[in-house]
Order: sequence, then structure tokens, then C-alpha cells
Amino acid sequence: MGNTFSPSNDVSVHCLASGSSGNSMLIQCGSTNILIDAGLSLRTISPQFSKHGVNISGLSAILITHEHSDHTSGLGPIARKSRAPVVSNTATLQACAARDELSYDCEELSTGETREIGCFTVRSFSVSHDAVEPVGWILESGNTKIVYATDTGYCSVELQSALSKADLIILEANHDLDWLQRGPYTHEMKARVASETGHLSNKACADAVSKRLEEDGPSTIWLAHLSRVNNSPSLARRSVQAGIRANTKVPFALDVALRDHPSVFWQAGRQAVQLSLM
Ligand SMILES: [Zn+2]
Ligand SMILES: [Zn+2]
Repeated sequence: MGNTFSPSNDVSVHCLASGSSGNSMLIQCGSTNILIDAGLSLRTISPQFSKHGVNISGLSAILITHEHSDHTSGLGPIARKSRAPVVSNTATLQACAARDELSYDCEELSTGETREIGCFTVRSFSVSHDAVEPVGWILESGNTKIVYATDTGYCSVELQSALSKADLIILEANHDLDWLQRGPYTHEMKARVASETGHLSNKACADAVSKRLEEDGPSTIWLAHLSRVNNSPSLARRSVQAGIRANTKVPFALDVALRDHPSVFWQAGRQAVQLSLM
């Protein structure tokens, strides 16, 4: 049985965790349930699925951004239990499989190619990070477009164009540059985070979002993958909001995806309501 078509305003997104201790987003539309990244254990994620009315066997696919453990630590057990295919490029799938003694279903999808998964058309695009072939994901259903990009050292032309016309932008706001420079990390760690294959700063996030808003109009933004040490939810919110407002008058709704527990929720039809509150 294939999935039946559902109107795009059925699309919803739940952030289950976002940050260096685990990343997972649940994206739903009708009977299609897609997980982006599997950085939580099966034991942690199962009750969260139940809360959103999803049986683990009802998972349609697991999209992987890259092989780092904060994105894949629960991958094997979740994939085997759900029997959902793990979708990513060949290099990433191989890097993930190399760490697991047991197998699970994989579906290779070259970076930049599209695939239909239930209600969604999904496509990956490359980002700049110190992993084998890291990507972000675009999910579209009807008129609804969601973009997910974390773990990227800078906003490339490709990432900027992925943000075009997105209704929900889930974008990394990893660190405040001052906090990073003055903080406790070693010189090497600071250099890695700030490098072109590290993580996106609050300022770089604000600049990318401003450009997107100026080009295409209002959107909802979730700040994701915040550093525990070099950022805080309130600093990220303040800093990115101020950065955007300094660049554009286009309205936007902004929220912060928290690190260690389920936080923000988005539903396609509610976007206008959120934006009117700004
Ligand atoms: Zn990460
Ligand atoms: Zn990473």
C-alpha cells in the first residue's frame, strides 16, 4: 500500500533534539513519517514517536545528513526496529554502516537528486563540514517547503539557494563568535568550529536568513544545533533577531530548537498566525 496524498497543510515538524548531544527531527504528512537524523537512542525516541501518534514501524524513511555520532548514534537500532530505509549518499551510508556490526535497509540517493517518499519530494544538497559527504535536506509537499541545514562552516551559494521560498527554515546557529573566542575550548577546537568545514555562527545564520527574507518574503526560522558552551538559546534568539532586523524589514517568525529534549513544533497552516504575532 502506498501513501495517499494529503493536502500540504497537513505537514508538521517536531524537533526531538538539536545539538551536539543528539539531532532528530520528525516530519509528518498524512501517513508519511520521515526522520531527519537519528542521533537519539531507540529507547529515547520510541516514546516521543508514540506521543505524536507514530508507531516505530510506521516510519517511512530516515534521512541522514552526515555520519557524526550526534546525528547517527541511534541509527542502527532505529532502522532495524522500524525497517524504514536509511536514505543518504553512498559515502555517508558507507561511513555509517562501517560503525555497525548489524545491517539495515539503505537507499542510496546521490547528493542533489530527488526522490518521492510518501507525500514528500525530498532532495539533498551539499554543505561544508568535516564529514565524508555532508548534506542538508529539502522536503516539499504540495506548496509547503521545509529546509534543514546544520553542521556547515559557512552558507554556500548552494545552501543559500536551497533556502529560496522555504516556509520553514531549520538552520544552524551554533555559536556566538565572541563566546567561542573567549570560551574554554582549546585553540584547535576553536579553529575547527570557526573553520569553513565547522559550524555556522549566529551572525552567518542571520545574514543567510536576511538574504532569503529579502528575496522571497516572510518565513519561519528555527535556530538549530546550538552549542552548549559557545551559545545559549536566549543569546542565539537575541543575536539572530537583531542581525535580521538590521538587514531587512520583512516579517519573520523565529524559534529556537533546544538541545536535550523535544521543543519546537511547526504546522504548515499555522505559519500566517505565527508571522502575524511578530
Ligand atoms: Zn552535529
Ligand atoms: Zn557534524
